[in-house]
Amino acid sequence: MTFSVTFWGVRGSIAAPGPETVEVGGNTSCVEVVCGDRHIILDSGTGIRLLGQRFARERKRPQLTILYSHLHWDHLQGLPFFTPLYVPGTEICFCGPKGIEEALSTQMGDPGFPVRLSDVPARLAFEELGDGLRVPIDGGITVTCARLNHPGGVLGYRIDYAGHSVVYATDTEHYSCPDPKLVKLADGADLLIYDAQYDDDEYAGLAGPPRTGWGHSTFSEGVRVADAARVRQLALYHHDPTHSDQKVRELERRAASLRPGSFACREGQTVVLATSAAHATATATATAIATAIATDSTSAATLGTAAERAANGQNGSAASRGLVAA
Ligand SMILES: [Zn+2]
Ligand SMILES: [Zn+2]
Repeated sequence: MTFSVTFWGVRGSIAAPGPETVEVGGNTSCVEVVCGDRHIILDSGTGIRLLGQRFARERKRPQLTILYSHLHWDHLQGLPFFTPLYVPGTEICFCGPKGIEEALSTQMGDPGFPVRLSDVPARLAFEELGDGLRVPIDGGITVTCARLNHPGGVLGYRIDYAGHSVVYATDTEHYSCPDPKLVKLADGADLLIYDAQYDDDEYAGLAGPPRTGWGHSTFSEGVRVADAARVRQLALYHHDPTHSDQKVRELERRAASLRPGSFACREGQTVVLATSAAHATATATATAIATAIATDSTSAATLGTAAERAANGQNGSAASRGLVAA
């Protein structure tokens, strides 16, 4: 009855490997949620490659559900390098917004990639999800979807299992108040994984161009929404590719000073929401959240830094909105 969350990619917009991001990690969005013997994966950014390697080492042929927040490239790009795709006997259900099958197939089509998604040995299924859907999954898991605020749309997910819950709210921008839909989705959750790409000065345009309308948020807004939803613990996610380990640590410190226990997600980090013993005894301590650094992951990322530096050099004209921050 283990319920745990492991971060395989925590970077937003584009992979950002290099000496300044070794601690936090440079891979883009991918989170593994283990509910008993079932694995749910949130997004397939470049971090999913490392998760695929772990499945290969374990010689597992898992039944997988991959939930996509949206179809921007930093949430898809690792899929062609996800080893289980090429293992006969693996079953993968891709769930996400309208157009998901076409987006994933196009990414692996000619001329971008030599193996078509329709030709891989794994058995694949596709399911389109939408705002307000509540989807039961075998094993006593429930997934709830809510449309949040991002250019082109984005789905936030809540996963409930064994009396605990995690909410994944990446690529979403706050309003003048905490987004009521997100507050409702995250109500009483154990863990809220929240888009904290910018600090307040960056968002307001006091450090570079204003990022309003780019579809991302800040750690301070994360604190507000976590408070409004009475969330147990806040996790800062989708770190900006320009943010060094030192910068992320600083944002983490500031978030934790406003809301003790808040932390910045790092590659390889695991948060245990419930364990067998805790579930069996159903004691109050079952709600305690422990974090640990997993030992079987690296901070290696797959994409080059030159392109990232070029992208970061762009300023935030109206024309670039939605391009520099996916
Ligand atoms: Zn996006
Ligand atoms: Zn993104």
